Amino acid sequence: MQIIIFGAPGVGKGTQAKIIAQKYNIKHISTGDILRESVAKGTALGLAAKEVMERGDLVSDDLMGKLVKETLNGFDYQKGFILDGFPRTLAQCKITDTIFEELNISNPILILLKADTEIIVRRLTSRRQCSACGAIITLNDIKEPDVCPKCNARNTLIKRKDDSEEVVRRRLKVFRETTLPVIEYYQGKYRVEIINGTQPIEKVTKDIEAVLNK
Ligand code: AMP
Repeated sequence: MQIIIFGAPGVGKGTQAKIIAQKYNIKHISTGDILRESVAKGTALGLAAKEVMERGDLVSDDLMGKLVKETLNGFDYQKGFILDGFPRTLAQCKITDTIFEELNISNPILILLKADTEIIVRRLTSRRQCSACGAIITLNDIKEPDVCPKCNARNTLIKRKDDSEEVVRRRLKVFRETTLPVIEYYQGKYRVEIINGTQPIEKVTKDIEAVLNK
């Protein structure tokens, strides 16, 4: 099963991609996660990406294409994957066409998660990640201040630099202007399924499973 999951930042595509990858035993490829790891490790890719990401802009198409190709080549991609965060521009669609052709990937399913802008701004500005267990939560989930509701670690809840309101709005603008045309590019080429991303997590997963099992 080969899936590309799309959606504005904060719509829950990372959360859903992780769940679906586990349920279907396929690899989750998140370009945002790979870039964040590279920044944390201080690799050449990380150094090139750090400031661009903190501004809420997009890393160059060239770098992203190389990263995705290397990642797909690093495992048995025919067994399945869910690609989260790529392609994000029309140039990246062209790069994807070339990579998929070379690797004989011919029938991916595209899932678009939709949500209203203001809901996303609220979600993202209250999003935190636990540096101990990696859980992603929102401030509404927290019962005790500064305690991770998943692993109970204290003072480990960190806000991503690009989750400030100003940067979130910039990321949403980039999404509207640069990434939405990607959906049009694929409509008619591959199967595109649109799902309401504002529903509870379990319901979104159910809707995704329903289209995958069609
Ligand atoms: P995400 O976690 O998917 O929202 O990605 C976080 C940030 O990583 C984005 O705001 C971009 O700066 C960068 N990024 C991730 N994927 C891509 C991509 N396909 N093209 C360009 N930049 C990307």
